Amino acid sequence: MTTTTASKSLADEAAQVMRAVTLIKLGARMQVLESEIPKLSRERLIRLYREVKGASPPKGMLPFSEDWYLTWAPNIHTSMFANVYAFLETYSDGLDRVDLLTRAYGLYAEHFQVQGELLQMDLTRAWTFIRFRDAGILRLAGCTRCRGKFVAHAHEPSHSMVCGICRPPSRAGKTKAAAKAALERSVALAQAA
Ligand SMILES: [Zn+2]
Repeated sequence: MTTTTASKSLADEAAQVMRAVTLIKLGARMQVLESEIPKLSRERLIRLYREVKGASPPKGMLPFSEDWYLTWAPNIHTSMFANVYAFLETYSDGLDRVDLLTRAYGLYAEHFQVQGELLQMDLTRAWTFIRFRDAGILRLAGCTRCRGKFVAHAHEPSHSMVCGICRPPSRAGKTKAAAKAALERSVALAQAA
């Protein structure tokens, strides 16, 4: 092995570790890490997880079903994330899935934290959404009233779709204003391109 190859593979490994640490800090569970950082062994990922979090990763499978993304507040949060993700996917060259995920999730989290709102969605849920989207189970569909794009079932007809902001449940006062601001921001971000 030449020195160049050796230092190249060291640098690559360091990069993989950095990516794993970023994901762990944002709340990724083991399934996310094993799927997105396949170059690091499971044992290595568990050790990194313990180092970053100070505790062992939770055991068990992810309990998520696609229906969670369609309930009111989670739908608005996921839609904000999904719009940012789609924007970055379209306009940022050379970003892979881990980059897209960490950047879009970072922007999503920052936005709602600035609003003083609790995050509905952790990074693992965001990752699971992308899996559902890529599998053709969920997609972004346009609201027929406000023209914003919201997460919907892929098989749901889009000509009659009305989003959760245009038709909120009665208990939804304060969150409604924050959600509207979030969607306006993601639309502005997309239009700035
Ligand atoms: Zn709407």
